[in-house]
Amino acid sequence: MSKEQKKGTIGVQTEDIFPVIKKFLYSDNEIFLRELVSNAVDATLKLQTLSSMGKVEGDLGDLTIDIHLEPKKKQLIISDKGIGMTSDEVERYINNIAFSGANEFLNKYKEVDAAKLIGHFGLGFYSAFMVSDKVEIETKSYQDAPAVHWECEGSTTFTLEEGNKKERGTDIILHISDDTAEFLEENRILNLLKKYCKFLPIPIRFGKEKKWEKPEGEEKEKEIEVDRIINNTNPLWKRSPSELKDEDYQKFYRELYPYSFEQPLFNIHINIEYPFQLTGILYFPKAKERIEVQKDKIQLYCNQVFITDNLEGVVPEFLMLLHGVIDSPDIPLNVSRSYLQSDANVKKISAHITKKVADKLEEMFKNDRTDFEKKWDDIKTFMQYGVLTDEKFFERAEKFMLLKNSEGKYFTFEEYEKKIETLQKDKNGTLVHLYATNMEEQYVPCQEAKAKGYDVLLLDGILDVHYINFLEQKKEKISFARIDADVMDKLIQREEALPSKFSEDEQKKLKELFEKQVSADKFTVVLENMQESDLPVYITKPEFLRRWNDMQKMSGQPSFYGMEMEKCNLSVNANHPMVAALLSDPDEAHVQQVCTQLIDLALLSQQMLKGEALSKFIERSVGMIK
Ligand code: ADP
Repeated sequence: MSKEQKKGTIGVQTEDIFPVIKKFLYSDNEIFLRELVSNAVDATLKLQTLSSMGKVEGDLGDLTIDIHLEPKKKQLIISDKGIGMTSDEVERYINNIAFSGANEFLNKYKEVDAAKLIGHFGLGFYSAFMVSDKVEIETKSYQDAPAVHWECEGSTTFTLEEGNKKERGTDIILHISDDTAEFLEENRILNLLKKYCKFLPIPIRFGKEKKWEKPEGEEKEKEIEVDRIINNTNPLWKRSPSELKDEDYQKFYRELYPYSFEQPLFNIHINIEYPFQLTGILYFPKAKERIEVQKDKIQLYCNQVFITDNLEGVVPEFLMLLHGVIDSPDIPLNVSRSYLQSDANVKKISAHITKKVADKLEEMFKNDRTDFEKKWDDIKTFMQYGVLTDEKFFERAEKFMLLKNSEGKYFTFEEYEKKIETLQKDKNGTLVHLYATNMEEQYVPCQEAKAKGYDVLLLDGILDVHYINFLEQKKEKISFARIDADVMDKLIQREEALPSKFSEDEQKKLKELFEKQVSADKFTVVLENMQESDLPVYITKPEFLRRWNDMQKMSGQPSFYGMEMEKCNLSVNANHPMVAALLSDPDEAHVQQVCTQLIDLALLSQQMLKGEALSKFIERSVGMIK
């Protein structure tokens, strides 16, 4: 290059490029730092590659990238010791923003996401103009060529001349604009570097930090100032799982979420080579009372450069219950989320992650069933969420989805169907899965069911009600009924109901006797012809109404049917001798007392007798002890 200055026009056919960059990327303007540091890292990695191929001789020396602030001069400088650029290369890579159809694109830019512009057309470097009035490049190539100085003031004219840089590498000097003066604050830059550059593969130095250390030959620890290195250049997900221990994963979790107190349950280390490259570590958190789809718990990286922690629409929603990192060079860098969502590669990657997660869970199930069962209660919600929202996941997970019974034993569907096949098939051939949602509250009907040889599942999770609905739709000839949904004989109806001993009039009279004692808003009285040995009165909560009521409550909406939903059945066993005796009892007061007492006992067995009613019941019962 000649000694004199060269002035030229940047090879974009339009003047509009700078206003576009400034205006439309404004909200996202912090990404300029990610772009420039990524370029510095790329230049350094290229140098390392050339060196390993023997194309650069000698020791490469310290390759640390420096970020330097000069607030007084309003400068932010990014310096690398990478391959640098010759004058020709500056012309080629910086001046000719070589993208086709630029004009056409710019005419349409109003409709497109601004970040897309940058990613799409390799404008990474030009994002510097979002925050700068002027940008300078001081660069010296690893090849034997003069140093180059380039500068541009955010218009389409630039200056290119021989520079004074002595050492190999590139300094990008940003003259920060007054309206983005925040980028001259140390803390702002520090936070940005921590956000975007925490795991970049080349060390990045920014400012100093204080550390306690014992200087050589001295007894006591001293507070000393050392260079602050922002990044961990060899993050855990890049390492081989075989050399890592559980503690390493736990420690890395802390590194990812320094402000979280959670302890993950276990993790999946993903390492895919084909059909695309994908590495990552996903952590399973412990189960919670509520489902928390936190949209910022998985961080997406592209070659260790942070892209986003908002994966909404990028991975299936249930995976967002997990925490961790995903890194793929096949994920386009510099793009907005809306663009990510529609990217074909990202879709494939998302499907693959789902598959990997299912693979890992299946492997855990097969290799150590006992351990898998131990973890089940904590991962159940995640699994159910996956099954409910992702057809593909259901297909994979169906084999190892577990059901837990009231004795704490775990079964797969298949195992459970075999277990209940003989006793719990009703007269239509439907396998009735009985369940309790609270072992304390539903203790009495549970015991009754067990006495009949039935098995009772424990479904006390937040998604269970949705899950059983789903299963009833997916699978043939199965149903779920809560243990208090009906009287035992009707929960699993195996034969036709017993005939009644009473005439229609008598039945009507009996019904009325009980109806008089309860509020019609809360109870529907039904006469049942049960065994003499069954209890005289039962309170049951019809499955369908209760289930929908539970779902409504979960969704936080007021129940559409209002009180109807809360209504219980008061089932009177017409075959019970005590009930039959009421018909011929001439003592009205006694009849009333028996009815109330029987109803209260039924309520008590469901833990529904409370307050004044309970107190009256106790008084009455004491009076009856003679
Ligand atoms: P991209 O990085 O997507 O190619 P950029 O606009 O960020 O687009 O950079 C254009 C080119 O300029 C790079 O591909 C690289 O060849 C060159 N370049 C940018 N920064 C540096 C640097 N710090 N050192 C060496 N070359 C660089």
